[in-house]
Amino acid sequence: MKQKNPRKTSEAAEENPKEFLADPYGRKVTGLRISITDRCNLSCIYCHNEGAEGCTCGPIGHEMTPELICGIVREAAKFGVSKVKFSGGEPLFRKDFEDILSCLPPLKEVSATTNGILLEKRAKTLKAAGLDRVNVSLDTLVPEKYEAITGAPAGSLEKVVKGIESAVEAGLTPVKLNMVLLKGINDNEIDSMMEFIRPYKGKVILQLIELMDIDPKLSKYTIDSKALEKSLAERASEVRVRHLHHRKKYIIDGVEVEFVHPMDNSEFCAHCSRLRITADGKFKPCLLVNDNLVDVREARSPEEIEKLLRLAVSRRKPYYIPIKVFEQEKNQLEEKKGKEEKWVQK
Ligand code: SAM
Repeated sequence: MKQKNPRKTSEAAEENPKEFLADPYGRKVTGLRISITDRCNLSCIYCHNEGAEGCTCGPIGHEMTPELICGIVREAAKFGVSKVKFSGGEPLFRKDFEDILSCLPPLKEVSATTNGILLEKRAKTLKAAGLDRVNVSLDTLVPEKYEAITGAPAGSLEKVVKGIESAVEAGLTPVKLNMVLLKGINDNEIDSMMEFIRPYKGKVILQLIELMDIDPKLSKYTIDSKALEKSLAERASEVRVRHLHHRKKYIIDGVEVEFVHPMDNSEFCAHCSRLRITADGKFKPCLLVNDNLVDVREARSPEEIEKLLRLAVSRRKPYYIPIKVFEQEKNQLEEKKGKEEKWVQK
């Protein structure tokens, strides 16, 4: 493993890049969500595979090298990208994850989302290599349910809990527990999950995630998000709103509960500041769109990476916007572009 990179950027550096990359809707890109492998040790019943078309769970050969990943992040950081989240597949399947972390440029936050099964042994080395914090996917505290949702063998839930403990000990905090809500399966476990995180005194946060029912077979598991938000708000002593996706955070009896509400939510899209990268090296402007990817493996220099980055950002479009608003905005964008072209001709 290479030496730890003492990356950390000051607020000032983030606020003053030479230029921010903004899409045609004016949304600045300040974060990257990078899938570093399609391989996974679980097969969750609802998994969206980070928007990859079908789970390739493919050979290691197509995965990006640490050099390419760090080259992309270096270019993006020049334009105000200050947060990077690693995902997968299961990112801890990458034995060279520490190498990837070690070659990153200064950033405000580097995090990873993991199922936690392999976390216990890696937490310290990941922290030493520069990982700031983790999200751990945990939908239930009942072993049989965990096994049914994830397809994991018996004893796996215990490993995840040990992984969470090791992450807290290693300082990969705050650890966020990603709980995808599934009607009739785990929607009665929110309170037990809150009790589970309470002893960690703020070092573990609960993140409730609305199920993205990308497959019609999943529709029966979708919860009533409005009713849930109402009940969280009624119980909360404080509600905060994050810029990213306009997510709400509720402080309930001293524990922090964040709600991620992506479906049919125009606010979510309007406040999306992330660009995705697929495990096989393609910029992906939106989780739910697959016909606008930009292959970055073609890049042979930092200048070429920059060009492809700009192209990908120019293809970003809010997925859920009311059609009326979308038409209005589209017309405005076209009008503006037309005027600019006329000025260039003059
Ligand atoms: N294996 C890693 C993990 O378990 O965190 C990373 C990959 S997983 C696809 C990343 C996150 O996406 C997990 O927290 C998972 O719960 C969430 N996720 C996957 N499919 C989803 C869906 N259909 N709706 C909402 N969230 C989903």
